[in-house]
Amino acid sequence: RNSVALVHADLDGFQRYNDSFGYAAGDDLLVSVADRLSAAVSADLPPRTQATFARIGGDEFVVALCGPTADEAADALADQWVKCLQTPFMREETELFLSLSMGIASTTNSACDFESLMKEAGTALNAGKATGNGNTRKFHEDMACETLDRVQLESRLRVALRNDKLDLHYQPKYCTVTGRIVGVEALLRWHDEKLGSVSPCKFIPLAEQTGLIMDINKWVVTHVCRQLRSWSGLGFEIPVSFNLSAAEFIHGDPVRLIAAACESHDVSPSLLEVEITESTLMYDVEAACECLTQLRGMGVSISIDDFGTGYSSLAYLKRFNLDTLKIDRSFVEGITADGSENGICRAVIALARSLSLKVVAEGVETTEQNDWLVAESCDYVQGFLWSRPVPAREIQLLLLEASQGTQNRPRGIAAA
Ligand code: C2E
Ligand code: MG
Ligand code: MG
Repeated sequence: RNSVALVHADLDGFQRYNDSFGYAAGDDLLVSVADRLSAAVSADLPPRTQATFARIGGDEFVVALCGPTADEAADALADQWVKCLQTPFMREETELFLSLSMGIASTTNSACDFESLMKEAGTALNAGKATGNGNTRKFHEDMACETLDRVQLESRLRVALRNDKLDLHYQPKYCTVTGRIVGVEALLRWHDEKLGSVSPCKFIPLAEQTGLIMDINKWVVTHVCRQLRSWSGLGFEIPVSFNLSAAEFIHGDPVRLIAAACESHDVSPSLLEVEITESTLMYDVEAACECLTQLRGMGVSISIDDFGTGYSSLAYLKRFNLDTLKIDRSFVEGITADGSENGICRAVIALARSLSLKVVAEGVETTEQNDWLVAESCDYVQGFLWSRPVPAREIQLLLLEASQGTQNRPRGIAAA
């Protein structure tokens, strides 16, 4: 018996090619993509299977497969499509890398007409995009609920933001030599009456997809500056870092955002540090380079968050104007007393040294990890062993203790 399976593919971040090279070049690129995708469709169809391939909108392509093994054929084709885009496209001297997000639906599930199939493939596509670029997902019933949850989550987040119901907690970073607090990282908190505490790992990606992230960024920068002003009034001066997602660099104007917040709260930009990920840097290298240079020109520091989990070219790292690398928690987690698994942390520390950058270890939870990092001359540590992210007034107490000469020491992970 025949079944029908649909693969709905969407090029990730295609708009930026139009923005960078113009629509004519964007069109050429789409034609090249379509050529590769359609070649893959014709290449190895299973026997007695028919395929219809179409571009259904800007950067979206669909293939409908009909045959006795349509489901398997759809899976295999999705793999082929990923592979056929791995070779970069050339535009003059520039190599362009493209990736696809895909959703797959089939009549072996519930859908039995083209419209429901398209809807299900679209739902699967969006579910994949929710967790980042380059994902392929197959539709299943729960996804419809997920989508509903996401709609609800987004609408509640929008209301929370409008009613100023978000909060910032601050997690201190400590110098491994002096044991003193050298700065704090601002981390967003959202407690919803109905949903309880929602993790930023859940709502930030959602906000990124829906565009709400731009308002959130503004909220965060404004509140960080407000807090700095208030601390300054109490006689405390402490650098604050905050996370800025790639969207701000792609669609927004981080320089203006930060400059405006500093000015309206009378805060020195030198007390601010922006944490960005490697993918933010690599998305559009030239633009990021220019932006970071301007930020550093204002006195803002730049740190690379979750370092080692993304990918960035070492040549670029040298070119960018940076201050700090933050070793991702997943590497710190693996630190053992005998040192057998510590290669990545050691390598990042050495890399930071050779590029004259400071290095922070994130997610330090045990004294073994801490001792090893101290012995390896990691500059700063941040993690539950020292302190969890806490409300602003608790930071004040910590700063007060420090100003009275009380030596900071790890409190242990239980001390929440
Ligand atoms: P991140 O910037 O890498 O932040 C560090 C995360 O690790 C925080 O999680 C922090 O609470 C957690 N953490 C710190 N020390 C430890 C430890 O010893 N053990 C463990 N298990 N975890 C530790 P949180 O607050 O849930 O934030 C998660 C992520 O959400 C952040 O990762 C960041 O990417 C994002 N995020 C948080 N606040 C903001 C924000 O204001 N704007 C943006 N764009 N993203 C944010
Ligand atoms: Mg961070
Ligand atoms: Mg991190």
